[in-house]
Amino acid sequence: MSTKGVLYIVATPIGNLGDITIRALEILKSVDVVAAEDTRHSQKLLQHFGIEARMHAYHDHNDATAVGRLIDMLEQGLSIALISDAGTPLISDPGYKLVHDARHRGLNVVPIPGPSAVITALSAAGVSTDRFSFEGFLPAKTTARSKSLSALKSESRTMVFYESPHRISESLRDAINAFGGSRSAVLARELTKTFETFLAGSLEEIKQQVDADENQRRGELVLIIKGEPKRVQRDVIDENSENLLKTLLEELPTKQVASLAAKITGLPKNLLYQRVLELRSDDS
Ligand code: SAM
Repeated sequence: MSTKGVLYIVATPIGNLGDITIRALEILKSVDVVAAEDTRHSQKLLQHFGIEARMHAYHDHNDATAVGRLIDMLEQGLSIALISDAGTPLISDPGYKLVHDARHRGLNVVPIPGPSAVITALSAAGVSTDRFSFEGFLPAKTTARSKSLSALKSESRTMVFYESPHRISESLRDAINAFGGSRSAVLARELTKTFETFLAGSLEEIKQQVDADENQRRGELVLIIKGEPKRVQRDVIDENSENLLKTLLEELPTKQVASLAAKITGLPKNLLYQRVLELRSDDS
């Protein structure tokens, strides 16, 4: 009975080579084949760690035979580690077709987790991370990019984008058009590297800094944009009730405003409470 090989999906550093994991090194040393999007680039990484490997080029847009060849190797019992140029494979990087086909054939696919720019940026940006939407790269062309951003106008989750340095200024401009210049954002640059920088502020402020300083347009970038705060539907609270809330909140704490207004208007207390919080934060 032949034992089938295992496909390992191995994350590699996004800049600082010290971020390679012990498990990643063990797997890269032990597998029969390392599949990489750019074999020359990855060869340097392997050399750095003294690993000699049989390399195989892999892109999602390779012809089907490239995927087929790797699947055949796995079927024959060879083990394969898939790596990308940096970070976690399949995260804005090749690998989807291979993993999909391997799973479809009932082969064993094992993740070896490690760095990814999206998680690295979120972990230190100081924005809410309870819920986020990873948007990958925005389209390169202005019209398509503006359309993608407009579609996210009412997204309430934190949004994360990968961006290239030569498009960042235009993307910030289009983001300002979609979300307004005052929307909070963070631009994380050169994560884990010497010139690691976090620019935080409104989209307008970040664009000004990026336009004024060409260093801010260098290297690798992750743009994080805060989601739109979920707001109480304004048509639920009529104008009189809204005015009542505004008057009461000048004199009373939030809880009391909500409870008094609920008695007067008959509207639900928690809805009014939520609206008072919004009115207070609009003021601040
Ligand atoms: N698979 C990778 C990952 O897990 O993050 C992403 C690969 S994608 C082709 C490359 C993009 O990721 C860059 O253009 C940039 O937006 C982001 N990125 C990668 N490394 C980064 C770093 N050190 N600092 C900031 N952004 C980075």
